[in-house]
Amino acid sequence: MQEKSSKKIVTRFPPSPTGLLHLGNTRTALFNYLFAKRNGGDFIVRVEDTDKTRSKKEYEENMLESLEWLGIKRDGELWHQSERTEIYQKYLKKLIADGYAYVSQEAEGENKEVVRFKNPNSQITFNDLIRGDVTFDTSELKDFVIARNINKPLYHLAVVIDDHEIGVTHIIRGEDHVSNTPRQILIQDAIGAKRPIYAHLPLILAKDRSKLSKRKHGEAVSLRYYKEKGYLPEAVVNYLALLGWNPGTDQEIFSTDELIESFDLSKVQKSGAIFDEEKLKWVNKEHMKRLPEEVVLREIGAQIRASSRFKEKGWEIDESVLKRSYKSIFERITVWQDVAQMTENGDLDYLFEKPQYEATKLLWKNEKDLGTISRHIGEAISLFKEISDDNWNAEDIKNAIWDYAEKEGRGNVLWPVRYALSGKEKSPDPFTLSYILGREETILRLNEALKKLL
Ligand code: GLU
Repeated sequence: MQEKSSKKIVTRFPPSPTGLLHLGNTRTALFNYLFAKRNGGDFIVRVEDTDKTRSKKEYEENMLESLEWLGIKRDGELWHQSERTEIYQKYLKKLIADGYAYVSQEAEGENKEVVRFKNPNSQITFNDLIRGDVTFDTSELKDFVIARNINKPLYHLAVVIDDHEIGVTHIIRGEDHVSNTPRQILIQDAIGAKRPIYAHLPLILAKDRSKLSKRKHGEAVSLRYYKEKGYLPEAVVNYLALLGWNPGTDQEIFSTDELIESFDLSKVQKSGAIFDEEKLKWVNKEHMKRLPEEVVLREIGAQIRASSRFKEKGWEIDESVLKRSYKSIFERITVWQDVAQMTENGDLDYLFEKPQYEATKLLWKNEKDLGTISRHIGEAISLFKEISDDNWNAEDIKNAIWDYAEKEGRGNVLWPVRYALSGKEKSPDPFTLSYILGREETILRLNEALKKLL
């Protein structure tokens, strides 16, 4: 839905820096960004830091870093409510002078003043792009407080003044703010602000349909958790975009530019959107598959190097081994951190050192005779020696040994070869392993096995 109005579209993301950026807020930022960019508009970021005790610089930094990581770029300056006290004061004074608000003395231990908005007790209907017409009777809100005192505006007042001064045309935010809208519209009318267009997004729910909350779901509600796990930012953006929105086609994998092209607020659903990490993993893997080979190689190398096992062992990465092995590693991961985990678990030890194991481990299932295994390994060595250097690849290695394995029993031949190369019950197949290790190292390891079998 390309907006037809000639006025430039301006959306905003106004988080309060009182905690790590939450997934729900991240999606709100994304929808505001996509909508603005779809329509050639501006996306503004405003830090709502008037609550001095709860606002922390580190959370603001986390929010900014997160947006940068995701590639959600703001337009213009970064706004801070804490720097705008005088502006709020000016509006507040005018509201009082014009009879829209009044100072009320309210005893609360010490003599306390608050500024209340004089409620006209009207009915307000606003059109929400997602929910249609929403009507409220404002009389239930009574004369609500808009400032603690002349220097301390509260959320509703500050947000309305800022949106007005910034020229925000569309307010796209979580459904939990629907009930704030009538108060904000009353204040808009009183300061003579134009009413923006509203779109309240469905909540993000956990699989059991409960609201995603830090208390219940822990760290997994913050974006940082996914960044640290090694999800790709473009995959997180793609997945979050699908939380409550759908393109109306079967397409599920989008680049951010493709999202900008297809994003349409009228296709946002009203009902809650379920967050499913398994689906996110799938989306992540799809994006990983689209990465250039050198990026995959670099990331896998970096994850291996970062693992404590790798450091403690003092291993080194042989780039040619990494180049030959990365595909088999890549097949088994959905996020980068899986590589570090595999290294930590010892699953990749065979890449860096000769395996250590007992000779009996080379026996396949019911086989009891070490001599038979010795014969199979000996045969594998001579078959491998015949393969030319140019043909040292998994397929030719497989072809070289396949007939013999078929004749002697696949498990009987292939199990000991694989175990001799990896020292693990779970590892890539023996042909891939041989290819990865290279002919020299393969034959060396098979000879080691023979020695053990003597
Ligand atoms: N600071 C508010 C929040 O983080 C902003 C809400 C709004 O979009 O108006 O919830």
